[in-house]
Amino acid sequence: MPDLAPSLPMFKAAKEKRFAIPALNANGNIITDALVEAAYRKDSPVLLQASQGAIKHAGQGDPFRGTKMIVDMTTDAMINRPGIPVALNLDHGQDPVQNALCFRLGFTMLMFDGSKMPLEENISNAKMIVEMAKAVPGIAVEVEIGRIGALADSDEPGVAIEEMKQYWTKPEEIAQLAKESGAHLFAVAMGQIHGCREPIAEIDFDLFEECIQAVEAVRDPSEIGFVLHGASGVKDEDVERAIIEFGVVKINVDTKLRQAYMAAYLKYQQEHPQNIDQRKPECAGHDAVVEVACGLMNLFGSTNKAQDCIA
Ligand SMILES: [Zn+2]
Repeated sequence: MPDLAPSLPMFKAAKEKRFAIPALNANGNIITDALVEAAYRKDSPVLLQASQGAIKHAGQGDPFRGTKMIVDMTTDAMINRPGIPVALNLDHGQDPVQNALCFRLGFTMLMFDGSKMPLEENISNAKMIVEMAKAVPGIAVEVEIGRIGALADSDEPGVAIEEMKQYWTKPEEIAQLAKESGAHLFAVAMGQIHGCREPIAEIDFDLFEECIQAVEAVRDPSEIGFVLHGASGVKDEDVERAIIEFGVVKINVDTKLRQAYMAAYLKYQQEHPQNIDQRKPECAGHDAVVEVACGLMNLFGSTNKAQDCIA
């Protein structure tokens, strides 16, 4: 069985060569396969991500089985697609025990999201997970302070973004988290929001700059990186700006992939209303996800960067 790739070399290469690692949510084996297929076609590194919801779904509520299945689905998708580094991350892991389970079962990146906790508790948990991850070389740990939030929190997109302003990342807090936790990657809440189906988010690049400066004042800039979450709702030109001007090394996309999958799936079914073979609309969804993921790899500059990311 192929091995998952360590994540730290990917971010090192991304930082040096100014591109971003596509961090794409792998919900189920069809989308997992599509994302690895896209990476293979584009000769791109890829970081697959599983949320706690995806783990719950995969294991039908059993976290151990769900976590193991996600590892197996990912490594299975790598078979006969050589030369492509595929890493696996826990996306927004809010429970240290879930982080430990992912680590134990072979994930090569962890995210501890303590953004809903008081800062001190966020820091102490993040620090513990960073220490744990050091036991295996090449494991990056991402943390979040401030809260990115989700569109599902509100019925009106504009209102949701406005409401989330109070939770945007504070430079002094992210600096403290960076200094005391020792984490490698930082998710900044600066105007983007999870679940946007249209590019309606306005990124506050001034705030982003302040956060970067605050962290780089307390940590070696070569050892850390920044992450753009909620990129489905961010305009392409802002995504490019985040990479080229601000050196973002990881960009998270989920909603766009779901939209592509469901649109193709439903289109197939509408055109073939008598169909009861679920594999056919699934194949249509698979191919739509491959196409969208290939486009993201071009946008993020990760196309033809696979070899740069292999340690
Ligand atoms: Zn996110």
